[in-house]
Amino acid sequence: MTEKKKNLCMVCAKPSETSICDSCKRQIQGEAADKKQKIEKSVKVGSEVEKDRRIKHKTDK
Ligand SMILES: [Zn+2]
Repeated sequence: MTEKKKNLCMVCAKPSETSICDSCKRQIQGEAADKKQKIEKSVKVGSEVEKDRRIKHKTDK
């Protein structure tokens, strides 16, 4: 009766010692990093556009 409780990866449902297996964990971390980079990039671009618009508006008058 010493059967080890088997955990399954909650992402791919494969037997894993943790709730998320290493490959899925890496994938999630990679996606999160990718998402973060994209968000940072879009925010930067958005603020740059706004800045440009403000400058144009100012110089227009
Ligand atoms: Zn997995």
